[in-house]
Amino acid sequence: MSIARFWRETPRRYNLGGSKCTTCGTTYFPPRAVCPVCPVHRQSIEKMIPFQLSGEGEVLSFTIVHEAAEGFELQVPYVLALVKTVEGPVLTGQIVDAAPEAVAIGLKVRATFRKLREEGKAGVIHYGYKFTPADDPSFATSARGPPVPAPAENPPRDRARA
Ligand SMILES: [Zn+2]
Repeated sequence: MSIARFWRETPRRYNLGGSKCTTCGTTYFPPRAVCPVCPVHRQSIEKMIPFQLSGEGEVLSFTIVHEAAEGFELQVPYVLALVKTVEGPVLTGQIVDAAPEAVAIGLKVRATFRKLREEGKAGVIHYGYKFTPADDPSFATSARGPPVPAPAENPPRDRARA
């Protein structure tokens, strides 16, 4: 991917900015200019508004990748998952900070911004979203042990941007 194209796409990569149809309420990520759900697509053109995903969701499906694509060799094995966000859109992303065997369908996750890969000798580093297990005290797997109270110094979730 060219640097120019990467930077054009950066706002949505960093912010999880999608779009929402104000007619039927369906949300999209990446953003769409036309709502494919509304019966008369053309009428939705003026009804689409920017919509911010919270980055929270759960694993819908996943696969453990052992043969990495170019640029991802150092990360194998890694988990690639389909994550259904709480707002509705399904995102594809890597699950990090979790052992592959700890990932399961239904796992609650939260988007985080990480280095995706470095591009060759130019040293271009791409960043984007990945997912980590959510710090929901009601959620615990055997791999993570029993739930523990969240430390007081944890910053409150930033929902003001939504
Ligand atoms: Zn619609």
